[in-house]
Amino acid sequence: MSDASPDRLRVLNPATEETLATVPAATAADVDAAVVRAARAQTTWAALAPGDRARLLRRFATAVDEHLEELAGLEVREAGHTIGNARWEAGNVRDLLDYAAGGVERLCGRQIPVAGGLDVTILEPLGVVGVIAPWNFPMPIAAWGTAPALAAGNAVLLKPAETTPLTALRLAELALAAGLPEGLFQVLPGRGPVAGDALVGHPGVAKIVFTGSTRVGRRVAAKGAALLKPVTLELGGKSPNIVFADADIEAAAAATPMSFLDNSGQDCCARTRILVQRTVYDRFLALLAPAIESVLVGDPADERTDMGPLISRAQLDRVRSHVPADADGIRGKAPEGGPGFWFPPTVLTGVDAHARVAVEEVFGPVAVVLPFDDEADAVRLANATDYGLSGSLWTRDVGRALRVSNAVRAGNLSVNSHSSVRYWTPFGGFEQSGLGRELGPDALTAFTETKNVFISNVP
Ligand code: NAD
Repeated sequence: MSDASPDRLRVLNPATEETLATVPAATAADVDAAVVRAARAQTTWAALAPGDRARLLRRFATAVDEHLEELAGLEVREAGHTIGNARWEAGNVRDLLDYAAGGVERLCGRQIPVAGGLDVTILEPLGVVGVIAPWNFPMPIAAWGTAPALAAGNAVLLKPAETTPLTALRLAELALAAGLPEGLFQVLPGRGPVAGDALVGHPGVAKIVFTGSTRVGRRVAAKGAALLKPVTLELGGKSPNIVFADADIEAAAAATPMSFLDNSGQDCCARTRILVQRTVYDRFLALLAPAIESVLVGDPADERTDMGPLISRAQLDRVRSHVPADADGIRGKAPEGGPGFWFPPTVLTGVDAHARVAVEEVFGPVAVVLPFDDEADAVRLANATDYGLSGSLWTRDVGRALRVSNAVRAGNLSVNSHSSVRYWTPFGGFEQSGLGRELGPDALTAFTETKNVFISNVP
């Protein structure tokens, strides 16, 4: 993104650097007005019969499905995502809305045995929820907070990232067309320190769901704490991909490229620390090299493309700053000389385990390969970052899979696969990767306040 003017955001196509649109940037006053509208709509929404709320959310899901190609095309243009990924992302929004709709009539409290009456818990909506989304998966991450919050009876104010407001704005139009009350789901494109900060600090916003960098996440948490406002944080990662000598090495090597190159590596779950047992290190690298070199980087709208550009020039500069020009390793190909923010698939070898590129999140198509000696060494290396979001391990030994899964401090692990985030399973990070969980069977409950009511049976 480059600024069109102080009061507008310029949205660029990262593959061509053409301006796609300029969008008004929300001010703190816009946030104030949006909170008033949202609070009014929330009262109406929460008073609807659960079945009616569920039906409206299903209609919203259907509207997303009917506009899937349009939304995917928008994501390709504003975020540089490959068309295959972008279709999956729009489908993820649809499925999440459907899943959340299924929870509306199942959002049950409890009846707790007491003497002298009846004790029940009631799960009440929080009110107005603020969702602050990043640019790397603009549609799914917006929906991860929005869909369960709406289903639990809340209104949602969504602040998309500065670079990627267009799909969010379109989703809000589709919600309205599907029959959701005016003001219930509003999108406020704007700058983080202005619109985002106003949302976090607004006393009328009951909860913040933040996804983004650890640096900004800390600020959001601190500001929320001053107001005793619950904050969910989904932050960065530097996730391991651990390959033991007893694994199917061919399968592990074949799966490795897209485990960190998907979305050009701009994925908080990217497995960017490839840990390989020393006895199979050379064999693994020999298999990995052709797999990396064959990754097709180019026009994201082309169905054959595996990887598109980075989101912005600033991101390209950030990625370049992490990769020493003389570093050894494997490099793929990327467009050169023309417009767009391109960086080739890159695997670095011979890197010190404490080097900046080995421990800091690059958020680009860059991974390091580090050898290890035994299981204890693998676990030590896997845990040697401040993060703890995800990770994979490859082994044929079930006992080892269990031991290492227990020992690695991360919120989302997969064995003999690089599973992506599923909306029906919980997602979130340990340590500097975040606070709280999203998605999964408890997603709606996270957007409720529990009220306990005792009803006396005294005549
Ligand atoms: P970012 O932290 O710069 O921005 C994220 C969002 O916060 C944007 O909407 C931004 O406008 C807003 N923001 C910025 N300053 C703010 C402030 N002072 N108050 C309130 N809001 C503010 O991150 P980014 O560069 O957009 O995204 C990349 C980062 O997000 C990476 O570090 C990545 O790991 C992380 N991420 C994490 C997950 C996850 O689920 N754990 C998912 C995607 C991205």
